[in-house]
Amino acid sequence: LEPAHQFMVRVRAPGGVATPKQWLAMDELATQYGNGTLKLTTRQAFQIHGIIKWNMKETVHAINKSLMDTLAACGDVNRNVMLNPNPDLSSVHQEVYEWASKLSEYLSPRTRAYHEIWLGEEKITSSKEDEQEPMYGKLYLPRKFKMGIAIPPSNDVDVFSQDIGLIAIIENDKLTGFNVSVGGGMGMTHGDDNTYPQLSRMIGFCTPEQVTDVSEKLITIQRDYGNRNERKYARFKYTIDARGLDWLKTELHERLGYELAESKPFDFTHNGDRYGWVKGANNRWNYTLFIQNGRIKDDDDYRLMTALRDIAHIHTGEFRLSANQNLVISNITAPKKKAIRDIFENYNIVAEDQLSALRKSSMACVSFPTCGLAMAESERYLPSLVDKLEETVNEAGLRNKEIVIRMSGCPNGCSRAALAEIGFIGKAPGKYNLYLGGGFKGERLSKMYKENIGEEEILSILRPLLIDYGKNRETEEHFGDYVIRAGYIKETSDGTNFHQ
Ligand code: SF4
Repeated sequence: LEPAHQFMVRVRAPGGVATPKQWLAMDELATQYGNGTLKLTTRQAFQIHGIIKWNMKETVHAINKSLMDTLAACGDVNRNVMLNPNPDLSSVHQEVYEWASKLSEYLSPRTRAYHEIWLGEEKITSSKEDEQEPMYGKLYLPRKFKMGIAIPPSNDVDVFSQDIGLIAIIENDKLTGFNVSVGGGMGMTHGDDNTYPQLSRMIGFCTPEQVTDVSEKLITIQRDYGNRNERKYARFKYTIDARGLDWLKTELHERLGYELAESKPFDFTHNGDRYGWVKGANNRWNYTLFIQNGRIKDDDDYRLMTALRDIAHIHTGEFRLSANQNLVISNITAPKKKAIRDIFENYNIVAEDQLSALRKSSMACVSFPTCGLAMAESERYLPSLVDKLEETVNEAGLRNKEIVIRMSGCPNGCSRAALAEIGFIGKAPGKYNLYLGGGFKGERLSKMYKENIGEEEILSILRPLLIDYGKNRETEEHFGDYVIRAGYIKETSDGTNFHQ
């Protein structure tokens, strides 16, 4: 008798894009083999939970048949390249999407092992050299590696949380290239101050034609210099912080054979999503739907999964997963817009104007019961905490004021909680460290305000702060900025002083 081990499968979708057919394939797999729900992740991927071991091969086969895969959705390689989900808003977005896809493809491992193990391909005999990865080499990277591309004014991909963050520079409606920033990362270990979340820092500008070369060379620097003795210190941020940005630039320029140009000015205004209907540059419609913590499922009184399945049956555009775990139904023709609205109405799908700005700015990682690293609840708890905070938010006149609030069930930080204006990182069941003062545009890390507290204390701390903010904030001042200005918390100017 074999134990019925169950697995989570993460499906890669560069830039978070899926066709309606692919959506239906994910839906069918989640229903047939998974736990009947779909999870949209903070890195624009699909997760299907609860797949029993003996259904794994068929599941991966079906994913492959839908022209998607799980290759590099995990592991010590470059992961899903993230991108602003809505290329239909301008022709430049489309061009950036094409660069993101090229990067994702180019930086993927070349191994055939995936195909041999999961897709039943015959093992190809080859020489030892052929079996090696041209970029990753024999040993791959010391740890996972993450990349994201932001298109200002939106920093929805939290570009500064990435190992390599690229910022698209658009001049006169033309993509001229990318600012390159390096060494971001959210993970840390409780009790070890040598680990910390860090923001990526700008090292220059490259043209679109140079971006693959620059990314490849940066990855090889981490491959060659990253810490292979201790996994918790093995991220690119620690390699850079130990040796310095000047060292990195010299090493990079040597490997490239040319220097990066000076980085160019840009302006971010937010890191959240913009909900509702928007008309794109191609005169088609896009609808951004709030999905609470990225979980798509059918409850008795809220049949979101069925509603989206019905939409996928008639939709001729795409589904685009946002970095905040929401969903953009994109490239909608005018007649289809009416049909999609009717489906929303039939299933009573909550419209964006019925939700508080706090809820629309909330994000939680999966955590219990399916994440093996979980220390405290996250996805299953944050919604009820937001219910309680909404009472204060309404009283303080802040119902329509966006305040970025995020929760992670452990310090790995999958929901990028260290970048939130109000952040929670799980310590033990029912206990969280509370962080305040993150930047609204994803430009500043927060700092710990109170350690190891439960719900009662969380509410009693946040209530006076929110009321004070409601009364005394300056016009347009964000909560994260206010708590620093009002002296509640010190600013974190760099990850290396995150714990001070
Ligand atoms: Fe990620 Fe930790 Fe949340 Fe698991 S519990 S999803 S590892 S942040």
